[in-house]
Amino acid sequence: MNALTRPAAPLAGAAFDHPEFDAHEQVVFAHDRDTGLMAILCVHDTRLGPALGGCRVWPYASAADALTDALRLSRGMTYKNALAGLDLGGGKAVIIADPRKDKTADLMRAFGHHVERMNGSYITAEDVGVSPADMEAVAERTDHVRGTARTGLGDPSPYTALGVFVGIRAALAHVYGSDTLAGRTVSVQGLGHVGFDLASQLHAAGAKLIVSDIHAPAVDRAVAAFGAIAVDPGEAHAVEADVFAPCALGAGLNATTIPAIRARIVAGAANNQLATPADGEALKARGILYAPDYAINAGGVISIALARPGGDDALVREKTLAIAATLTRIFERARAEDVTPERIADRMAEERLAAAGR
Ligand code: NAD
Repeated sequence: MNALTRPAAPLAGAAFDHPEFDAHEQVVFAHDRDTGLMAILCVHDTRLGPALGGCRVWPYASAADALTDALRLSRGMTYKNALAGLDLGGGKAVIIADPRKDKTADLMRAFGHHVERMNGSYITAEDVGVSPADMEAVAERTDHVRGTARTGLGDPSPYTALGVFVGIRAALAHVYGSDTLAGRTVSVQGLGHVGFDLASQLHAAGAKLIVSDIHAPAVDRAVAAFGAIAVDPGEAHAVEADVFAPCALGAGLNATTIPAIRARIVAGAANNQLATPADGEALKARGILYAPDYAINAGGVISIALARPGGDDALVREKTLAIAATLTRIFERARAEDVTPERIADRMAEERLAAAGR
């Protein structure tokens, strides 16, 4: 079709006019007749390398919702991978299905077939609704997969927790001039894979812990293991502490919670902590230092990206520990330029992408 015969809005509107469209390189709608697979695979940016990002299985209410998520999440992976110093671009896939009812090995194999057809521009991995066993099924159809027994170091959570731990130290150094945890109090909200491991590292470094989770046994375990003080999950942000570490769900930093925060630092593993960009400005206005979530929680993607079959984790640890230096640069530039840390994080990622694109 030439420019004259090209249909305008109706077709292009599916992606090019979408509010979340941000110069994505590829948006692939994949269907499989036998299994009923409906997936959207997005490659946002490959200037730094092939696009790595997880596959999410979720019962989206509509294909439009799935597209919105895939466009937004794949762009987020470009920034996360760039800032983490990985030679990888950003991508993401979503499968429209209920992970508890519709997910089968055949469905995941059919997805793997479509990943293979992208010829390496997209590398998949686990995300919400996808288990290691699911990824093994995907790996039967494609080599463009990470985080399987053959390619990975297993659970990425310990590396995420390590990155958050050193990130908290970097934040303490920036605010107080010392990164020591002895005598500091940290409120850890969410004691799952990452939060519990983080609490353990903080305790070993001498921090006092305030813990919360909606799952009571996890709280009991932390109280017993670390002498932690338990609070209601809804109070975690408002307690007297030096650091608030959100390690549960996203959007916990919002117009309701921010005015009640007493800590001078917010630094935790949860994704998408800021409900809106205005909430980042609100934290800054209150003099609270915020460690951008995608910068501090990159240890998991680093482990997925850099693990090699049979290799040790030395490189993964090195890159994860480097999160502290990255955050220090972010905090210093944010202070010098009087803008929020998340704006600087975005800018640093964009600078790396622009340099690679030359
Ligand atoms: P998880 O599911 O193992 O743990 C989450 C914990 O939060 C659970 O114990 C749950 O009971 C608790 N929780 C849920 N709602 C809560 C609430 N309202 N208040 C308090 N606690 C609540 O998840 P995870 O792997 O530990 O990940 C934690 C967060 O970090 C998530 O936002 C995740 O997206 C993000 N993250 C994780 C990784 C990783 O490697 N696992 C990497 C990057 C980001």
